[in-house]
Amino acid sequence: MEIQYVIINFIILAVILFLFGRKMVKSIFNTRFEKINRELDEAEEAEKTAMPVFDEYQPEESDACDAEEITLAQATVDEKIAQIEEFRNHLCSEIHREMIEDAREELLLIMRENVIKLFSDEKYQKAIRDLDADVIDAILPQIKLTPGDMAYLKHHDVLYVTVTSAYPLDETIVKKVDEATTAMLEAVGGKTSLWVLEDPDLIGGLKLRIGDTVYDGTVAEELYRFSKNFNREPILTTDTVGHLIQEFSEKAKSFRPQIYVFQLGRVLTVSDGICWMDGLADIMYGEVVEFECGERGMVLDIQQNRIGCVIFGDFAHIESGTRVRRVGRIASVPVGNSLLGRVVNALGDPIDAEGYITCEGKRPIEFKAPSILDRAPVNSPLHTGIKAIDALVPIGKGQRELIIGDRQTGKTAIAIDTIINQKGKDTICIYVAIGQKDTLVAEIKDKLKSHGALDYTVIVAEPASSSAALQYIAPFSATAIAEHFMYSGKDVLIIYDDLSKHAVAYRELSLLLHRPSGREAYPGDIFYLHSRLLERSAHLSDELGGGSITALPIIETLAGDISAYIPTNVISITDGQIFLDAELFNEGQRPAINVGLSVSRVGGAAQNPVMKKVSSSLRTRLAQYRELAEFMQFGSDIDDTTKATLASGRLLTEALKQGRYKPIDDHLQTILIFAVSAGYADGISPEDMENFEKELYKYFAEKKAGLAEKVRTAAKFDDKLKNELGEALVEFSARF
Ligand code: ATP
Ligand code: MG
Repeated sequence: MEIQYVIINFIILAVILFLFGRKMVKSIFNTRFEKINRELDEAEEAEKTAMPVFDEYQPEESDACDAEEITLAQATVDEKIAQIEEFRNHLCSEIHREMIEDAREELLLIMRENVIKLFSDEKYQKAIRDLDADVIDAILPQIKLTPGDMAYLKHHDVLYVTVTSAYPLDETIVKKVDEATTAMLEAVGGKTSLWVLEDPDLIGGLKLRIGDTVYDGTVAEELYRFSKNFNREPILTTDTVGHLIQEFSEKAKSFRPQIYVFQLGRVLTVSDGICWMDGLADIMYGEVVEFECGERGMVLDIQQNRIGCVIFGDFAHIESGTRVRRVGRIASVPVGNSLLGRVVNALGDPIDAEGYITCEGKRPIEFKAPSILDRAPVNSPLHTGIKAIDALVPIGKGQRELIIGDRQTGKTAIAIDTIINQKGKDTICIYVAIGQKDTLVAEIKDKLKSHGALDYTVIVAEPASSSAALQYIAPFSATAIAEHFMYSGKDVLIIYDDLSKHAVAYRELSLLLHRPSGREAYPGDIFYLHSRLLERSAHLSDELGGGSITALPIIETLAGDISAYIPTNVISITDGQIFLDAELFNEGQRPAINVGLSVSRVGGAAQNPVMKKVSSSLRTRLAQYRELAEFMQFGSDIDDTTKATLASGRLLTEALKQGRYKPIDDHLQTILIFAVSAGYADGISPEDMENFEKELYKYFAEKKAGLAEKVRTAAKFDDKLKNELGEALVEFSARF
């Protein structure tokens, strides 16, 4: 019996619980559902009301007087435009370009004055002030807390909110802002402190600043954006100026504020091209910032309460308290074919007085290096046209080969000859001059031009006179330019002349940024600096287009000390080095390549098979010769074998000498080296070597072109080819 009661009781309880529970769950869901729906509706409505306010707004019929004002100024504007057009017709010298720049600035000033005049008209003022409520309605749906604000709130409980307007604001507007921002901050457990300011410089409209983020709907901002577009226009013609100005006057006449959102900071201190700032809470490393005066900088240090940046241009106008805004992108340079044949600075701006460059696009100056899977092995040669290099330290496409040596040992000469040798070989060359003399850059440009090599070359130059910041980014910018070509499947050769000066520029920056200094006062990340630069050179896999960047970094040593800090760093990053010896250079051995200390760790795979075979014993023979020659300086009794070794060594050394700007085709080099090392040139005096070489090339070009072609294309150096070559050489020697 009892069990029956228990069961009945249990059933009754279960039914009651079920009914009650269902009701509760239902009501919870319903209220949630309603809330969400309501919020969605509200949001939609807010969006609807916010947007068309501007569309509906038509300024009161004040245009009559505005038009008059604008036409009044139009006369001066027209005059300036005509002036620009006239300057442009003579656009051939730096002076004309400067005149255009001046005219551009004057034009902007005229525009500014006009706009201010326009907006100070009473009728117009009223129309704009009527807009304030609409501006704030457009701003408030957009406001949100950034990660930077949240981080700030962790340490402070109050976030500052400022409303700044050109004219005194209505109470209701201030109240609206206060309510909206308080609600937003209370939701995350913070408080606001609202400031209401007036600033006639804004000309019209208002802006709201929450933390570091500014929501700007002012005439001043509109004017700022206009001047930026105006300055960005590469060539000012009557058309472009007229168009820009008309566009802007239309905008000014029927002013409907657009809300621009950006983050703002403030300069704390500035010295030696380095600037410390606060604010800019969400800034990224490497991002570009813009100062009030228009100069730009790049962020290089982010600390908890301050941000360090380098200033690219003139920092005379930047002072403590100067406003600075985020540009919202990482530093980048223009890239594309139009750079070919030009000299640009680290920011990609032309410095060769040959007009503006219109580019296909931009690339960030820092970019991640291709991964292992993206790379293909180095397998095709990049001929330098220099015998001693192509035979002994061959370079392949995608390789990084260091050129190292004391000052004035012919480092730059090798680089320039290599560029000249790329003529007609479908390789784009980029020469980066870091901390070099201006005259040297001009000379290099002239030389390349006279050898027809400028058409496929870009020169990126930051001379010794430019700031450390620009010298620091120059090789990165140049690599970005190279990458554009590489990723579109082309072969690129890039020369960094030189990375010692680059390291010095970076050391200067690091010390100014108060980073701890390490060995030789260089910062700890100097190895990383060069490795992340050089790792970007690669031979891409076929899937990625098969393009390549071959890098020839140059390092200057002091008294031949290759074990100093920067040389050892770069030696370990690269795939080999060409060591230039001051002693050899002074002895007259040019190029002064020290065979014993030079290596190419990967280039052998890309060397022509015939050249590989012919030059295989060259290195040991030359080393033997140098050792013997040094030893024999003191001896007088020399046996015949030693005499023979010395004589053939001397001939070989003589054969490897080469003047500047005289690159030689790879197969001709092969034939010469074979002739000398196999003894076909024995009996010729070292002084005659130059002549022998010249005649040999002539002979093969005129009489044995077929055989020369065979040497160029043969898959291996077999006995047949060897005999054929031998016969031809015997014939030649007999004639010589
Ligand atoms: P720096 O340390 O000043 O940059 P560098 O090592 O780059 O010097 P270069 O400027 O290339 O040296 O050359 C120094 C001098 O040697 C120049 O006057 C150049 O003409 C001469 N020179 C270089 N290579 C050769 C060569 N193969 N034949 C004749 N002269 C040469
Ligand atoms: Mg040099």
